Amino acid sequence: MNKVVASAAVAILSVGDELILGQIEDTNASWLARALQAIGRMPGERRTVGDDRAALADALRALASTHAAVIVSGGLGPTLDDLTREALLDVVARGEELVSDESGVEHLRGWFEKRGRPMPVSNLRQALRPASARLIPNPHGTAPGIAADFARDGNRCHIFCLPGPPNEMKPMFDAFVAPVLRDDSNIVATAALHSIGLGESTLAERLGDLMERGREPSVGTTASDGIVSIRVRATGAHDAARAALDATVDECLKRAGNIVYGRDGEPLAAVVGRMLVERGLTISTAESCTGGLLGAFITEVAGSSAWFMGGAITYANERKTSDLGVAPATIEAYGAVSHETAIEMARGALARFNTDIAIATTGVAGPSGGSEVKPVGTVYVAVALRGTARTAAPVMGVRR
Ligand code: ATP
Ligand code: MG
Repeated sequence: MNKVVASAAVAILSVGDELILGQIEDTNASWLARALQAIGRMPGERRTVGDDRAALADALRALASTHAAVIVSGGLGPTLDDLTREALLDVVARGEELVSDESGVEHLRGWFEKRGRPMPVSNLRQALRPASARLIPNPHGTAPGIAADFARDGNRCHIFCLPGPPNEMKPMFDAFVAPVLRDDSNIVATAALHSIGLGESTLAERLGDLMERGREPSVGTTASDGIVSIRVRATGAHDAARAALDATVDECLKRAGNIVYGRDGEPLAAVVGRMLVERGLTISTAESCTGGLLGAFITEVAGSSAWFMGGAITYANERKTSDLGVAPATIEAYGAVSHETAIEMARGALARFNTDIAIATTGVAGPSGGSEVKPVGTVYVAVALRGTARTAAPVMGVRR
């Protein structure tokens, strides 16, 4: 099973001394990795090699032996340090010579003619290809791409060599490579379920054997900014992979319980907004330690003006009193970071912004200001609801 998954993957090979030396960022590789997933193909190994024919051939041979396809970017230029086509020859037809492709020569002549410039003889190198390979048209530059097939130990591999400049590489991938690789017979289907409220290891315990290594579809978790995401990945024939993915997603939802709020990148605030709109409710915020972060999360959601009325950022104690009506006596008695102050802030926002719900935050953000009883990271969150006296102020606890 694992072997099938590995060989269905597509390797990415980036070529160029500038990449090795860190002079330019390898944006091509990350773009290709995302573009592959968008057409249902899994990125496999990724390598970077300098402008060295032997090293390039070694890397290409190794990747082509273990992947369904390899995408090479760079090294197709007219100069002697551009060695991708020679390395490709070494891999697919060792000992043979490169041949000049007529359509390639025509493309080059046309390219220079159109621009009224004489064609440097060195550019003719760009029409060369191994005899068994095909050139890929490049409407955006001089270097055509090259497509070749490689077979070894029962593994068949498509090799695509694309030019390095991103404005040439991307359209060539879209127009030529994607249609070949968008192969229904072996896709990768993915889903991400986002949860909040449980630590990663507790969630992993709930998921149990679903997370066993080697399971197909695979299940993993990642944590980022308090959100723990369950990532499910199924590989196989189109419909079968989709069905297997759906079944595993259902099982994950069952085991995780009600902590999952959304999927596939949906922001928490957008989900909250949708629930508010469905119920015809509005919300406001009263923030101290978060300094407007909560309001920013909310207003990032398109259309949030339908349910978010506004918020107050009350950092100073006096502003908690003047803007939200928090009693000075409350702050005096319990402190600005307290259950009681949080509740009064929430009630103040509820009244002043005239909303159905108000959320207040007050805490010790650090790095200084913590104490034995209220260490750095202590945050009180209060929620006030219109028409009820119910106000909750759960202590979120120490976060750092
Ligand atoms: P050229 O005809 O321009 O020489 P080429 O196919 O030989 O094309 P390279 O010489 O490898 O490509 O790279 C040309 C330029 O393309 C680089 O200077 C760089 O600006 C850009 N480039 C190359 N590889 C990458 C990459 N992996 N990520 C981002 N940009 C890249
Ligand atoms: Mg070059």
